[in-house]
Amino acid sequence: MMAAVFCAQSGADVCLFEKNEKTGKKLYITGKGRCNFTNACNREEFMLHVPRNSRFLYSALSFFSPDDMMAWLENAGCPIKIERGRRAFPRSDKASDVTKALCSEMARLGVSVRTGSEAADISVACEDGVRRVRGLTLKNGAFLPFDAIIVATGGLSYPSTGSTGDGYRFARETGHPVTDLSPSLTGIELKEAWPSQLQGLSLKNVRITVYAGRKKRMSETGEMLFTHYGVSGPLILEASSVLSGGNTEDSVISLDMKPAVSEEKLMSDVGDLIRLGGAKTVANAVMPLFPRRMTEPFLIACGLDPHAPASQLSSAGRRAIASTLKKLDMTPVSLRPFGEAIITRGGVDIRSVSPSTMGSRLVSGLYFAGEVLDVDAFTGGYNLQIAFSTGALAGKSAALQSFTA
Ligand SMILES: Cc1cc2nc3c(=O)[nH]c(=O)nc-3n(C[C@H](O)[C@H](O)[C@H](O)COP(=O)(O)OP(=O)(O)OC[C@H]3O[C@@H](n4cnc5c(N)ncnc54)[C@H](O)[C@@H]3O)c2cc1C
Repeated sequence: MMAAVFCAQSGADVCLFEKNEKTGKKLYITGKGRCNFTNACNREEFMLHVPRNSRFLYSALSFFSPDDMMAWLENAGCPIKIERGRRAFPRSDKASDVTKALCSEMARLGVSVRTGSEAADISVACEDGVRRVRGLTLKNGAFLPFDAIIVATGGLSYPSTGSTGDGYRFARETGHPVTDLSPSLTGIELKEAWPSQLQGLSLKNVRITVYAGRKKRMSETGEMLFTHYGVSGPLILEASSVLSGGNTEDSVISLDMKPAVSEEKLMSDVGDLIRLGGAKTVANAVMPLFPRRMTEPFLIACGLDPHAPASQLSSAGRRAIASTLKKLDMTPVSLRPFGEAIITRGGVDIRSVSPSTMGSRLVSGLYFAGEVLDVDAFTGGYNLQIAFSTGALAGKSAALQSFTA
């Protein structure tokens, strides 16, 4: 939609093809229905949240930055607000207002929006040794000639929203390499059984450190959630981004439940609780250190009997509690599938796309924008901003192309 807006405002005649009955189906569910549409940070900070191929985005983010996006939405009649972590939302807390702004701008600029129209094939012709876009064939068999085509078909995640990976096929069929695709920003299944007993429990202000192939890949403080299969929540989504693409093998997620307290201080706190515990069981004595539900599974993970008398807890047992509070290891087995993943890692190989136009280096008149490209970011509004920035740049560039074709 943003590509269509920028293309039309640069003077081109634009058609948008959407296979769903309405545009922006995924936008409606972003940010839990509130649409965290960007992050109010500068370009350098933005890059720190893009773990792969961030440099490819320099031109697109300069052309249409998070500040530009916020101003654009305000001008299009959608007031905005900025929350914790510089996350930007529509002031109404309604993702539908972002879609409405995009739709009304498309209408104002005369974009012909064809919903229920599935693109099936992109035709390319070779003239004087140059491969050029000819047009688009729809699923109903109709062929439509175009001077330029922008592929903005999204990734493979949440396929029920329409993102079923068609753009990867268009890219491959027109000669563009596509890198390995895997789910990212998704839950993590664990080898250990104890986390599933804690299903629904969320931990705040904890630190997780992720190791893969014996290398430290991430260390962050925040919130996580236990689920029936393992773990999820903001910290874990970020961990999945680090572990996606086959990195789960030989990996460990280390949980520090008390990041602000040293192990020695915890050792003395455990000692105090055990002394005060009198005739209590170990579990009852040390309960103040954990969320209630976590006490027993935690002590079992420490190799201790939760029901043993506190008075019999040895110094090694106290040390085990203190050190496990600082370092409770969980073993990732696999990532939750595309159907639950917020984004797709991998996509159209950026080496076949010009970062300054989003145009293909192999086929003149063909452009790529959004999640179909091999760029992905952490949560916080970065992924939508990538879609808006690359879309805006592709739209402007495609309009220029259509005038010279
Ligand atoms: C649950 C969830 C929550 C999210 N929340 C956030 C958030 O708060 N902030 C954030 O930054 N990111 C968020 N994301 C990620 C973000 O939504 C995506 O990165 C972004 O939507 C990608 O935009 P896109 O335009 O490239 O693709 P999409 O939004 O997937 O749009 C692609 C469109 O192309 C259409 N299409 C596909 N193939 C064809 C075809 N052959 N013919 C015609 N039409 C076709 C699809 O139907 C779809 O409408 C979230 C994702 C999910 C799943």
